[in-house]
Amino acid sequence: MPTRRTLLAAGAAATAAAATTLVSERAAAATAARPDTGVSAYAFPLTAVQLLSSPFTANTGRTQSYLLFLDNDRMLHTFRLNVGLSSSATACGGWESPTTELRGHSTGHLLSALAQAYASSGNTAFKTKGDAMVTVLAQCQSRAATAGYNTGYLSAFPESFIDRVEARQSVWAPYYTLHKIMAGLLDMHLLAGNAQALTVLTGMASWVKFRNDRLTQTQRQNMLDTEFGGMNEVLTNLYQLTGDANHLAAAQQFDHAEIFDPLASNVDSLNNYHANTQIPKIVGAIREYHATGTTRYRDIAVNFWDIVTKHHTYAIGGNSNGEYFKAPDRIASELSDSTAECCNVYNMLKLTRQLFLTNPSRADYMDYYEKAVYNQTLASQDPNSTHGFQCYYVPLRAGGIKTYSNDYNSFVCCHGTGMESNTKYGDSIYFHDGGSTLYVNLFIPSVLTWSARGVTIRQDTTFPDAGATKLTVTGSGAFTVKVRIPAWATGAALKVNGVAQAAPQPGTYATINRTWASGDVVDLTLPMALTREATNDNSTVQAVKVGPIVLGGLFGTSNLSALPVLDPATLTATSTPLQYTANGVTLQPFYKVHGQRYSVYWSVTGGQTLPAFVAHYPFDNSATDASGNGKTATLVNAAYTTGRTGSAVNLNGSNGYVSLPAGILNGATNFSIALWVRITTVVAWSRVFDFGTGTGVNMFLTPRSSTGTARFAITTGGSGGEQRIEAPAALPAGAWTHVAVTRSGNVGILYVNGAEVARNSAMTLSPSSLGNTTQNWLGRSQYADPYLTGAIDSVRLYSRALTASEVSGFYSAGN
Ligand SMILES: [Zn+2]
Repeated sequence: MPTRRTLLAAGAAATAAAATTLVSERAAAATAARPDTGVSAYAFPLTAVQLLSSPFTANTGRTQSYLLFLDNDRMLHTFRLNVGLSSSATACGGWESPTTELRGHSTGHLLSALAQAYASSGNTAFKTKGDAMVTVLAQCQSRAATAGYNTGYLSAFPESFIDRVEARQSVWAPYYTLHKIMAGLLDMHLLAGNAQALTVLTGMASWVKFRNDRLTQTQRQNMLDTEFGGMNEVLTNLYQLTGDANHLAAAQQFDHAEIFDPLASNVDSLNNYHANTQIPKIVGAIREYHATGTTRYRDIAVNFWDIVTKHHTYAIGGNSNGEYFKAPDRIASELSDSTAECCNVYNMLKLTRQLFLTNPSRADYMDYYEKAVYNQTLASQDPNSTHGFQCYYVPLRAGGIKTYSNDYNSFVCCHGTGMESNTKYGDSIYFHDGGSTLYVNLFIPSVLTWSARGVTIRQDTTFPDAGATKLTVTGSGAFTVKVRIPAWATGAALKVNGVAQAAPQPGTYATINRTWASGDVVDLTLPMALTREATNDNSTVQAVKVGPIVLGGLFGTSNLSALPVLDPATLTATSTPLQYTANGVTLQPFYKVHGQRYSVYWSVTGGQTLPAFVAHYPFDNSATDASGNGKTATLVNAAYTTGRTGSAVNLNGSNGYVSLPAGILNGATNFSIALWVRITTVVAWSRVFDFGTGTGVNMFLTPRSSTGTARFAITTGGSGGEQRIEAPAALPAGAWTHVAVTRSGNVGILYVNGAEVARNSAMTLSPSSLGNTTQNWLGRSQYADPYLTGAIDSVRLYSRALTASEVSGFYSAGN
């Protein structure tokens, strides 16, 4: 890992990360010395969730076989040598070699992974193996004084490394490594019931406080410039378990002001900071909030998550280039072979999970979780290795290829977090509120045993191959099920025992209150649209997605020197789920792309690449485009009049209309057109708008069709080929009326005055189907229909679907 060593040589605070998991909720659930403050959702223990066959269980199986394969004596070799015990084991290589300053970290990860594997599988071989390691670690710790160390010290390297970090001398990341060991011990205690592990851990915690009590606050803060993993997290988790105030005090000695202070003010100062050095500190912050109720800790964590996920995150959910955060919104300009370190996403998922517990009403937390767990975590283990070898980075430059760890000669940080990630997939599918509400967050086949309610919930799904899932209840009782409706799932539908429920709103939780009986079934349909995600810094650089699943283009052995070009119009579905072709290139889910070169990002051409907000016409005595995109409109035989706000275009009903630039929505698969209209007299077949190239190819909204109601239609085959959204009534006369048409995936929705009035869930046509439209008119038809009589105001065009709340917001705001 020359990159890592280069960073060290440069004097940077180097390394990676990791830590353990969900210890907190386990502690609260199992021993509950101190309940968490400020949470309104709780995890189920891993023991309550049985995973059914899926890509996740395939990953888990490989990692579990690796855990059983590893030789304890090799993993304990340097620990024994460090306290003068003999060891004849073969030394490990890579980052666990006897001369590597990070040695011992993998043993900590292994303890966490063994504890999780035991809790989720019940296979005692994992516990037996972990117990044996704890026994030796306790023996090593008991020899601290003999070896010349302070009481409680336990490591595979000498305590002089701590002297060096305190003295600001060159050393890799000693507290980072100790954090892994401490977290592993806590997991062995909480998940595998090992009492000795807690004794060893509290000894280490006392030693940590002893070391840091000797320092001034300034010395401690200076020391925190060296990567220390999640020391504040594991010590806070220990405090929640023991209630010993010394453990919280020790945790807070690792509150890094240089990082926390700007985040508390919601300032993004992350540029040029080693990414995975920072993320665990923030996982610690949210746990310190849960332990203390001090809202500043919560604000630091919430602000960090918002900053990182919105301004530093690639389409696959990962962050960092060359391990570092870059300036905000640099994405397309930061594509390399060392992007998206896997530890980072491991820690971001831990943080996301804690934030969900803090505020489970925010569905975007678990939307991000889904994005990252499929597109990076699942994607970064080699399916061709029976031991689950793991990526360090996930290259995102065009022509990148995944490379992996090995049995004994790698032991990079991400190899360690990979062992953990792949042994806890059951930990974030379901949550509860401590009472009678169940959250269903992920669509992973599994069986939940909810012992507090005496029921089991079985989830059957082939997601993401198909956009649907089924929940079957066994047992009975009154409780509430809240199912996450992902923001991408426009057109989602929900049935209980075959009876359709109110249309669930994407980006929220659908709530089902009922008294359940054995055999009750919930069916959720989640339409997975083919979409593209543009980078923040270059709208033409885009990733292709189906629902939340990022597709990778397969390039075999071809190394690419530039982003491949993609014309979205050429994307063609194949008979294999989620697999497409475009210009001879096959695209498939990125999590399935291994063993060949690929591209996640494309230079998108074909027509034009549209900004999300295409054009905005306030018509305030001007036809200019207020979006800044320069799409100036032209008034033809029309003038301005009093508008809904400001002025509006007045249309005379005989020859007046507004012409918008050619191809204004060309290439858009999703779109929205929202506007205000005041119709003087409602005349059948007049047009609010009509975009097209003539009577064969167009899309239009008429206030009244021959059936007497408003209609949106889109066609590439004349009136006989129209796909329609039929409103229940004509648009009204004489009153300002807000109308909006949106399309996302195959779902078209018509809104009138801020509320949905009709939809068509089989609308396969989109503006991109129409080609380069040259007659884009407001108030005029492609046919020889009557012109509109009235006024039009505040016209907005988007290359995305507005949400229902955005549409109602425009209606409420009157603009
Ligand atoms: Zn790593």
